[in-house]
Amino acid sequence: MSLPMDTDHQDIRDAVRALCETFPAEYHRKIDEARGYPEEFVDALTKAGWLAAMIPEEFGGSGLGLTEASIIMEEINRSGGNSGACHGQMYNMGTLLRHGSEAQKAQYLPRIASGELRLQSMAVTEPTTGTDTTKIKTTAVRRGDRYVVNGQKVWISRIQHSDLMILLARTTPLDQVKRKSLGMSIFMVELKDAIGNGMEVKPIANMVNHETNEVFFDDLEIPVENLIGEEGMGFRYILDGLNAERTLIAAECIGDGYWFIDKVVDYVKEREVFGRLIGQNQGVQFPIAEAKIELEAANLMRFRACALFDAGQPAGTEANMAKYLAAKASWEAANACLQFHGGFGFAHEYDVERKFRETRLYQVAPISTNLILSYVAEHVLDLPRSF
Ligand SMILES: Cc1cc2nc3c(=O)[nH]c(=O)nc-3n(C[C@H](O)[C@H](O)[C@H](O)COP(=O)(O)OP(=O)(O)OC[C@H]3O[C@@H](n4cnc5c(N)ncnc54)[C@H](O)[C@@H]3O)c2cc1C
Repeated sequence: MSLPMDTDHQDIRDAVRALCETFPAEYHRKIDEARGYPEEFVDALTKAGWLAAMIPEEFGGSGLGLTEASIIMEEINRSGGNSGACHGQMYNMGTLLRHGSEAQKAQYLPRIASGELRLQSMAVTEPTTGTDTTKIKTTAVRRGDRYVVNGQKVWISRIQHSDLMILLARTTPLDQVKRKSLGMSIFMVELKDAIGNGMEVKPIANMVNHETNEVFFDDLEIPVENLIGEEGMGFRYILDGLNAERTLIAAECIGDGYWFIDKVVDYVKEREVFGRLIGQNQGVQFPIAEAKIELEAANLMRFRACALFDAGQPAGTEANMAKYLAAKASWEAANACLQFHGGFGFAHEYDVERKFRETRLYQVAPISTNLILSYVAEHVLDLPRSF
């Protein structure tokens, strides 16, 4: 298996970069200040087909692999934008593609590919269970031709910019299943039918300009034909999608990392203090060099995860490691970039503080760094389970 490289798919890189250049830093800065949604940017990416990269051609997408998809996400973040506004559209459809019925795929995928429907939301996290997903308390109880949903979710992103949402709910109580990972199911929620009819959405003001919400379910009715795959197998279906999600997030962090390094290198080569360029000081050079080394290592792991995934081989270890390394490297790069801009790092017009806030998220979501360490300890090193 040959490892994809930075220089592969230069045509994709160039095309995404050209599109992103038409949305300069001021555009993203203004959206951030207004706590708005980059509607025109997401529209342009959708119309150009980039967000449908991984949808097979038979359903109207481009049928590209994770490698190419990851380059698209990387370039968005490298340009100064933030894929967090739209990355859900790239990977949430994977659950439908892998586990949906032929009828469901025909119903939704072509319209997701064209952008007519946005499937940008996935509702897993709950306020009282945190990362311990098998303990979720949201239930879906079958009554005739409907499931009736009750419970609560938190941190559910992009609902207000989606038509569809994937929902994980417990269909068999925890004390009645053989294994705690069984008895949960996945549903496709049509948001315009659901909101106001058993589903209530409350935005959460947060550190980044990221539309995310609390969600309350009070007897929300979902037609049985919106169950995806087999009842009770939903947790496995969610896990199936995580390798792609983690690798794409790793690529976004890598895009951020390059943005920070380019930005700080340019700055320290121009800023003079004590009669010399600050970039002449090794105390300034070394943290930037260290971030660059870590970023390149993360990049190799990201491409390894992509290559394994695209070859249909197990990629869990590499996807987790890529996410860990990339989130850490982009954070180190962000810190160096902010530090060496001095006071100007805090000024909105330099964009550093915005990207700094954005990249910090990836230490916590969609999976926290500690939980990746735990995965590697238990699944790679075969250490005793801690929970
Ligand atoms: C902006 C944002 C957007 C999000 N979007 C979505 C979304 O669209 N859909 C969705 O379902 N969720 C979403 N999330 C939720 C996100 O996935 C979770 O916040 C994340 O997985 C961590 O879960 P938690 O917040 O419940 O933390 P907890 O599970 O409560 O953990 C808190 C801290 O304790 C540590 N910890 C917990 N258990 C252990 C352990 N055994 N060993 C060592 N350390 C441990 C963790 O590392 C973490 O730092 C989003 C979150 C944010 C902040």
